[in-house]
Amino acid sequence: MERFCNAVCLFFLILCSVLFAGESYKVSVSIPPVGYFVSKIAGDSLTINVLVPQNSDEHHLELKPQDLIEVEKSDLYFASGLEFERKIIRQLKRKGNFNVIALNPKNLRDPDPHTWLDPLLVKKQAHLIAKALSKKYPQNKILYEKNLENFLEEIDGLHMKMKDLLSGLRSNKFIVYHPSWNYFAKAYNLVQIPIEIEGKEPKPRDLQELIKRAKKENIKIVFVQEGFPDTIARNIASECGADVVSINHLSADWEAELLKTAQVLHNALK
Ligand SMILES: [Zn+2]
Repeated sequence: MERFCNAVCLFFLILCSVLFAGESYKVSVSIPPVGYFVSKIAGDSLTINVLVPQNSDEHHLELKPQDLIEVEKSDLYFASGLEFERKIIRQLKRKGNFNVIALNPKNLRDPDPHTWLDPLLVKKQAHLIAKALSKKYPQNKILYEKNLENFLEEIDGLHMKMKDLLSGLRSNKFIVYHPSWNYFAKAYNLVQIPIEIEGKEPKPRDLQELIKRAKKENIKIVFVQEGFPDTIARNIASECGADVVSINHLSADWEAELLKTAQVLHNALK
């Protein structure tokens, strides 16, 4: 009888460990940089579902039914204030028991959602992420707090390096197709001159004005982004003798991409 009980216990132990191993905590985020922030704090304690692919236009994402299913299976959703998220949030609210964490709480008044490109604003987002994860998974609170501390230190280090690269330059203006670098520019005393106007290609008259301004201001660098058109950007660059460089505001390798962008600007504007 005792041997039978032991065998039954062993069976249940194995069954439980198999079931537990197959089940993991999951959260969803909109864009790859936020996936990076969550992974810095969560480590490998959970799975992160990222909705927007790295080289795409985050303002025109066509949600697939599978995306909504994956979001519904997640314990938390970290929102960045992008257009397509309205549909997700509506759907989640209908379900009634879902946690949406707004990483851009002021977004209603400020239509520019690209806060993830300013390291100092990302520090605020990191705090919000750590707080939400600790509340949802209190058993990992100590891990999340430690990881948050390390991540904040890394961000400070990155900010100092970028400040060094972007100080004392001869020029402070750059042209970029999609206007996602305004927070970044403000943080480092730079000026972003966008080509896209309200999400659309510029009209011929606007384009002529832009080329005139680019020549007058002696613009040295024009940024293009994968997922967005680049013909107009290349034409402007050739008209004013500027270099064209591809950058990615949605890179999953957030820190390396910001540093690379700062280095390119340093080289072009020094
Ligand atoms: Zn954008």
